Amino acid sequence: MEPLLGKNIGELQTICTGLGLKPFAASQIADWLYRKRVRSVDEMTNLPKAARAGLSRSYVVGRTGYVDMISSVDGTRKYLFPFGPGVEAVMIPDKDRSTLCVSSQKGCRMGCRFCMTGRGGWHGNLTPAEILSQFMEVDEAAELTNAVFMGMGEPLDNWDSVRRVIDILTAPWGFGWSPKRITLSTIGVTSDPHTGGSPLRRFMDECSCHLAVSLHNPFPEERAELMPMEKPFPIEKTLSLIREYDFTGQRRVSFEYIMFAGINDDKRHADALARMLRGLECRVNLIRFHRIPDSPLAPSPMPVIGQFKDRLNAAGVLTTLRASRGEDILAACGMLSGRKKEQ
Ligand code: SF4
Repeated sequence: MEPLLGKNIGELQTICTGLGLKPFAASQIADWLYRKRVRSVDEMTNLPKAARAGLSRSYVVGRTGYVDMISSVDGTRKYLFPFGPGVEAVMIPDKDRSTLCVSSQKGCRMGCRFCMTGRGGWHGNLTPAEILSQFMEVDEAAELTNAVFMGMGEPLDNWDSVRRVIDILTAPWGFGWSPKRITLSTIGVTSDPHTGGSPLRRFMDECSCHLAVSLHNPFPEERAELMPMEKPFPIEKTLSLIREYDFTGQRRVSFEYIMFAGINDDKRHADALARMLRGLECRVNLIRFHRIPDSPLAPSPMPVIGQFKDRLNAAGVLTTLRASRGEDILAACGMLSGRKKEQ
């Protein structure tokens, strides 16, 4: 059985035509799927009974619920979904926002040394229905205001599915969100060996969501020590592509910079980072590192982070320190593994 969840309006129209239904039935099905959010075809009560029966022969709605949830002392909640060895989504409540940190893959093949997801390896891509299930099944589904593709996986390594989800989130027949409510975080996948295209360029051209780039070190050789994918996807290439686009309007680009003690946190790094980003309308988000087991990497002390931040701001690069959320439930940046803390 194929899931209806993840189908766009054109595909729903094709399905309706195949069932002998009028094309407007596609809008009714989209409404049931993405607005009224039903769990079964049977609940689509304004479709003729015969049409529902026909639809049910080949299709299901395709939502998958979470199997576990754990709450942090700071209100962050981590949900476990039964995809592959386990996929997590994190709900981060803030004053006037409820942000869902969404996963795009079962694990990740980018291998960043500081990340629990990377360590667990890659177990496949998530389908659009599996990504949308994260949005629709968390307890706070009705309150969500924002989404960040910053959970497990590299979203540009699964761009076709992520793009489809973004289309559904932003379409008037879908969730009806503004693209400004969505941020995609990437290490900067500038080429695809299979298609020869550039997933990063496709992201820039095919939607207008915000972009966050995981930078973490301005020196390519040092960055490659932390992020082996620096070799196939050099940060210089990512930056030159970004510079082709306009970030002076509504669309924003930011750079994520996890601070590791003695690795990327001295003046040399701050000055090189400021040089690297000169003239680009952007923001740098500093992130305190959360220790992961069996790793020599340690977080930079807070005074060092403060000095680094001040140096960048003094050099004209808008820099903030991102508040850390959900560390006690292994829900903070780089800690998602699909496993419960006690395991
Ligand atoms: Fe993958 Fe992101 Fe972890 Fe790197 S930091 S291994 S890209 S999930």
